[in-house]
Amino acid sequence: MARVLLVDDSASARALLGVRLREKGYDVVEVPTAAEAAELAIDKQPDAVVTDLWMPGISGLQLCRLLRAEPVTAHVPVVLLTASDDRRSRFWARHAGATAYVTKTEIDRLIDVLGDLTSSPRTRPPPATTPPVVTRGNVQERLSQLLDASLFESTIAGEVRALAQKAEELEQLFEGLAALASDVAGYRWLALTTESVTPHAARLLIHTHPDQREAAEREARDALDVQHPQERRRPAEADAVILADKRSVEAEWSTPPILLPVRFGTTSIGRIAISPSRRGASHDDRRFIALLSNELGGPLRMASLVAEARRLASTDTLTGLLNRRAFVERIEKARAASDSGLFPMSMLLLDVDHFKKVNDTLGHDAGDAVLQGVARVLSGIARKSDFVARWGGEEFVVALAQTAEAGARIAAERVRRAIAEARYLLPSGAEHRATASVGLASAEGPDWQVDDLLGRADKAMYSAKHRGRNRVEIA
Ligand code: GH3
Ligand code: MG
Ligand code: MG
Repeated sequence: MARVLLVDDSASARALLGVRLREKGYDVVEVPTAAEAAELAIDKQPDAVVTDLWMPGISGLQLCRLLRAEPVTAHVPVVLLTASDDRRSRFWARHAGATAYVTKTEIDRLIDVLGDLTSSPRTRPPPATTPPVVTRGNVQERLSQLLDASLFESTIAGEVRALAQKAEELEQLFEGLAALASDVAGYRWLALTTESVTPHAARLLIHTHPDQREAAEREARDALDVQHPQERRRPAEADAVILADKRSVEAEWSTPPILLPVRFGTTSIGRIAISPSRRGASHDDRRFIALLSNELGGPLRMASLVAEARRLASTDTLTGLLNRRAFVERIEKARAASDSGLFPMSMLLLDVDHFKKVNDTLGHDAGDAVLQGVARVLSGIARKSDFVARWGGEEFVVALAQTAEAGARIAAERVRRAIAEARYLLPSGAEHRATASVGLASAEGPDWQVDDLLGRADKAMYSAKHRGRNRVEIA
């Protein structure tokens, strides 16, 4: 005989329902309060709990939450009863983990629901390893603990969402995340890696004590399975941003890291790892990291979409070089950030010689392949501090920061020669040769203007054309 625990503060309602359920063959125990019901359910684990939703003191919703949180009663079906069929009660019933929701007037439906719930063989809970948290007399206390826990969860979720609204870029997002994490948990390092959707988009970010920098990076790479720099095939594949903050993290030995995936929908888009401090990760630390990994999917996806949109807006699609607008922006940004203002500054403007003929005789695809080849040559010989861009059509521009005319002359000649010596593989399989005319302009002082330098370099490039092409001319 299935045992049903019936909870209602109204004696008449209890009696009415009790009779009907007993008629149907249930072994019914009636109690007037949720507190009594909780203690009894944990003690005896009935086959189902049928409870009034609104009761003075502890409500049916709270009872439901409490039974769900206790391992011994987590599996016990809970049917919530209410007088009115309002949407909000139904919403909360679902969120409290109720198995079913029935209005008090639908007794026949309740009987059907109970029939379904008690006929299927019940999965017994695994033998409890820890005694139940709810014991006689502490139901109220346990409820406030549960309330605190869910308040904590929604607060953390709210904080992560707020972070995502403030931080457009991954670095900013991580910085905020690290500030939040070091407020809540103790750790040696915190690391976040994004999955490599596109090769240059994979990132590794670490927050650690400055003294632990190297060890933390090594451990984080091992834990997250991110290649070590010397093993990287492409230099930009993953980079570590270490945010040193002596106050918020501990510089001491630790237990193995906790690692969790970050998902957006069903797709894994990253992983988060934390290396607990010496005392080890507490239950709360683990819960916190689990919360972070749950909440981070949306913000992380947004940050990578923003980064991808930025990259697309600043790159030339044919060659992958910076486009004209991004070239000028990057230079101005670097100039503003640099103490020296980047001067002396030199600028090379290149124009591929007789390029129209390539298009006309070999086709537009062949022309495209040559432009891509020239872009590769330029990227290959540029220094890290140079700015290389496609200026438009078959024109390219290279800005050489902190390079005076004498040095730039050598660089320009090297570029000209590299272009002339390269073999450009065409879609047809044939190899093509190309040359370019190069104009060079330099500024020795701090008052240089991008437009002015480019204008002068352009004139010099035209005189290189007039003087026979495949040569460098200086403004
Ligand atoms: P010069 O030596 O005087 O520079 O001669 P040129 O033929 O290179 O000069 P012109 O400016 O007359 O021709 C440039 C050509 O570049 C014309 C245009 O169709 C071609 N072009 C511009 N952009 C692209 C592109 O993205 N792909 C291809 N295939 N051709 C392009
Ligand atoms: Mg041209
Ligand atoms: Mg040309």
